[in-house]
Amino acid sequence: MNETSLEILRHSAAHIMAQAVQELFPGVKLGIGPAIESGFYYDFDLPEKLTPEDLLKIETRMEQIIKEQHKFIRQELPKAEALKLFDERGEKYKVEIINDLDAPTVSIYKHDKFIDLCRGPHLEHTGQLKAFKLLSIAGAYWRGIETNPMMQRIYATAFESKKELDDYLKNLEEAKKRDHRKLGKELDLFSLHEEAGAGFVYYHPKGAIVRSLIEDFLKKENAKRGYELVYIPHIAKIDLWNTSGHTNYYRENMYFMKIDEQDYVVKPMNCPGHILIFNRKTISYRDLPVRYFELGTVYRYEKSGVLHGLLRVRGFTQDDAHIFCSGEQLKDEIKKVIDFVFSAMKDFGFADAAIELSTRPKDSIGSDEDWDKATSALEDSLKEKGLEYEINSGDGAFYGPKIDIKLKDALKRKWQCATIQCDFALPARFDLKYIDSEGKEKQPVMLHRVILGSLERFLGALLEHYAAAFPLWLAPVQAMIIPVRKEDEPYAGQVKERLILAGLRVELDASNETLTKRIRNAEVEKHPYIIVVGSKEAKENKIALRKRGLGDQGQIDLEEFINKAKIEITNKQ
Ligand SMILES: [Zn+2]
Ligand SMILES: [Zn+2]
Repeated sequence: MNETSLEILRHSAAHIMAQAVQELFPGVKLGIGPAIESGFYYDFDLPEKLTPEDLLKIETRMEQIIKEQHKFIRQELPKAEALKLFDERGEKYKVEIINDLDAPTVSIYKHDKFIDLCRGPHLEHTGQLKAFKLLSIAGAYWRGIETNPMMQRIYATAFESKKELDDYLKNLEEAKKRDHRKLGKELDLFSLHEEAGAGFVYYHPKGAIVRSLIEDFLKKENAKRGYELVYIPHIAKIDLWNTSGHTNYYRENMYFMKIDEQDYVVKPMNCPGHILIFNRKTISYRDLPVRYFELGTVYRYEKSGVLHGLLRVRGFTQDDAHIFCSGEQLKDEIKKVIDFVFSAMKDFGFADAAIELSTRPKDSIGSDEDWDKATSALEDSLKEKGLEYEINSGDGAFYGPKIDIKLKDALKRKWQCATIQCDFALPARFDLKYIDSEGKEKQPVMLHRVILGSLERFLGALLEHYAAAFPLWLAPVQAMIIPVRKEDEPYAGQVKERLILAGLRVELDASNETLTKRIRNAEVEKHPYIIVVGSKEAKENKIALRKRGLGDQGQIDLEEFINKAKIEITNKQ
């Protein structure tokens, strides 16, 4: 056991919260109450529905328990005794957990009149909890199984100091304001339509602009690095997926269909398609590495309960590539992909990332030896690049280990984006070959990699990272043109035409609102520039420029603005 002091604090807070709930709602049955990354929760089975007002009452009671400084006391009990204890208290869920435990004794923790089944460790006494806050109530099935009773989960958080708690709560407020679902609606970027199927995204014209800009970026950057663009069909016969192992190891995420009485699969991944292209001809060692890139749309079944805006969907497009190389080229290719990720990250304005290395899962294909080789190729590459990483044990794909590079946004939240998987298994299953320098057949290694990952999720991350204030190169509308009066509309129209001709994305607001109101509207929509034109500007072929976040920039020559904007776009500022 190596809980951090913060985890111990939070888990102790969960005990205190459970005591308060037990006192305020007699008859409640306790589930579990672990510390989590953002705080802690506790699951309760109780007949009445908890309300936000209840949370306040629970907090008040917790304050008293904290003030009374009750000691946390650990006790070891023989299993039978513990069963009796919790049975008498009517804690059927605890009884269930104890019954599942494979140990002669179990430990319990007491403080005041509260007893919980627990491994510990805990704080010394309740008075050490200085800063906590109950946050929300959610439904949660006991042990996450849908046929089990639905419990009420109280999410809460705790920190070592009031200052850290306040910062966290402020961050949480800011995150709510940046929710990509809210921003996507306000900026008219995309929608999801329950009536057409949950988890499928519809891009509106402005959202489509941002997406196509990201796609253009990807096509250019991949081509620069020796990737060749390919396209593959969205459905393929089941045989292909039997060979790849997907029907065995990925079945629950796949959609099946029939054509001419034959079984087909809607692609959940692009790998087998790219393999077919690789396998079409004899490949020499001189051709390697072969790098196929695709903006590949995939369809994966996700439970309806986990669908979430653009982040968890049932159909999405990956910036997917497969690199076929020799064993000698492997590490070099991995390192190039890592460089690609960090370069793209910088272009999109992300300054920080967290790296994880995921190892062999229980259900997987391939030999131990190949898994070892693949894992050390990934790990050595990270080490040689001098990058810090965490090990995510057993979280690799069924065909190989992987590196995940998670971007940290403006609020320090992590976003799953880049993945690099090393795979010896699929080349073997598809009997891939190349001819080496001595004319002998050899098996290539495969790297599966995405740089931004799912374009849908990446758009969600971008929206929340920038709070919809996109940099100029990504903004769907780069400048809003506003004529001062009706008479200024012809010149405003000329400015618009000139800017469009220069390749800029602009709109003209000639609505009947007042000038102040139109400027305000354009500011709310977070366009990088607002261009105001009146008779004075018309006479001198100038514009009055306002820059987002900086306000009035004064008058500027129209051509000068175009040049400045182009530089800003090139530099991705
Ligand atoms: Zn505990
Ligand atoms: Zn793949």
